[in-house]
Amino acid sequence: MGLLGLFKKEKKGKKATQCSVCKSHMERNEGYALTTSQVISSKTYWDHKMVEPETMSYTTQHFKDKDENATKMRGIIFEKTAEKDQTWMTCDTCIKHFDVDHAATKELASEWWNAENGHKIPNTGKAIDHLPNEAYETIRDYATMEAGASLIRL
Ligand SMILES: [Zn+2]
Repeated sequence: MGLLGLFKKEKKGKKATQCSVCKSHMERNEGYALTTSQVISSKTYWDHKMVEPETMSYTTQHFKDKDENATKMRGIIFEKTAEKDQTWMTCDTCIKHFDVDHAATKELASEWWNAENGHKIPNTGKAIDHLPNEAYETIRDYATMEAGASLIRL
C-alpha cells in the first residue's frame, strides 16, 4: 500500500457519536464498545434507566401505586432493550456502570470507530442468545421489579 492508501485508511471511519447510554457527545476514538448482554446484565444500568424522564412515571406508579400496567411497561422496556442487535458505545462516565474489562472494550471501540456504519462487535445481538436462561431471568426480574427503587422518593 502506498502513502495515498495509508492516508485513505486513516480517513476512513466515524468522526463522532453519541453515548448509547446517556446520549452525550463522543469524539472519535473515545469510549468503550459493549454487547447488549453486557449492558443489560448491569443492575446499575437498570437503576438509572428506570428513572430517566421517559421511564420515571412507570417506576413511580410501579412502586407507589403498585400499578400492574406500570410494572408490565417496565418489563417491556427490559425486553425491548435486551433484544437490541447493536454495538453499544459508552462514554467514560457510563462505562463505570458495567462490570467489564476496560482494556478489551476499549480495543473493541477502536475497531468500531474504524469500521463501516452498523458494525457489530462479536457476541452482540439479542441478550437471550448470549446469556444463560437463569441469568437472563434474574436480571429481567430485577429490571422489572426492583430497579430504581433506591433512587426515587416515594
Ligand atoms: Zn454516557
